[in-house]
Amino acid sequence: KAKENGRNQYLLCSSDLKGEVNRQNQLTNFLYRALEKGELFIEYQPQVHLVSGKITGVESLLRWRHPELGLISPGIIIPLAEQTSLINPIGEWVLETACQQNKKWQDMGLKPILMAVNISASQFKNPHFISQVEGVLQKTGLKPEYLEVEITESMAILEFSEIIRKLNGLKSIGVSIAIDDFGTEYSSLGRLKMLPLDRLKMDKQFIDGIGCNHKDQAIANAIIQLGKSLGLSVVAEGVEDEDQIAFLKTSQCDLIQGYYYYKPLSALAIEEILKKETK
Ligand code: C2E
Ligand code: MG
Ligand code: MG
Ligand code: MG
Repeated sequence: KAKENGRNQYLLCSSDLKGEVNRQNQLTNFLYRALEKGELFIEYQPQVHLVSGKITGVESLLRWRHPELGLISPGIIIPLAEQTSLINPIGEWVLETACQQNKKWQDMGLKPILMAVNISASQFKNPHFISQVEGVLQKTGLKPEYLEVEITESMAILEFSEIIRKLNGLKSIGVSIAIDDFGTEYSSLGRLKMLPLDRLKMDKQFIDGIGCNHKDQAIANAIIQLGKSLGLSVVAEGVEDEDQIAFLKTSQCDLIQGYYYYKPLSALAIEEILKKETK
């Protein structure tokens, strides 16, 4: 009987696995068409200067609205795209759409802000990545000083010399570089000091611990001081409440990105905020 059960379980598992693979394949097929059908879009989350309370930039965050499946998060889209060849066209679409949008705001006479774009490891690995960025800037007319690329510690899958070479390439175009989700993966401080970075984005997990976990709080403070002493500006991600703000003020964190100020918003909503901040 037990054996039978075990066998049934096995069958169940294997058909589940098959179902899972089919679902993945179907989702991949849907994603192929999403780009041309215009189902992908971007939300922009403001980055706010802690002292002045004013917006200095926005981060572009990918969204997918499928007619039947509804809204699909980047946590699903990006890994799926990375497994296929879709990451390059999708990554390029995000880059171009975000740069075009930023240029559009500037052409409307709104105050200029920085556009931060997430770059996945396989996108970064692409030998044409630097010329892709150059091409997008040329095509959209956005000045490089208004574009920032966000990379993560997952880039460590690449040869270190290759990472340095690519980042220097980006710097020479005039684009700035942020390290995202800082502190969550294999942060080697010895390597960090060799990277041509402009900004450090502290992961939400440390922010979450402010006010309730002494160790997280100590790490949050240490990350801010580390960033500042390396001459980098520091962004706190996922800030949601007043206590966190008070702590970050004391630690002199530069910028805040989080629901406390703004959730990710449509381009139109950003336009409205910028209008109010433009004299
Ligand atoms: P990320 O780059 O670290 O982006 C910050 C994430 O934190 C976003 O989630 C944002 O909506 C969320 N967030 C910001 N403030 C708060 C807050 O106060 N509370 C909470 N609970 N969440 C907050 P989202 O949009 O789901 O994106 C998740 C991740 O997907 C991003 O993390 C990024 O790694 C990736 N991603 C998003 N768009 C793209 C893209 O265009 N390309 C690539 N390669 N990755 C992307
Ligand atoms: Mg990011
Ligand atoms: Mg992050
Ligand atoms: Mg994250």
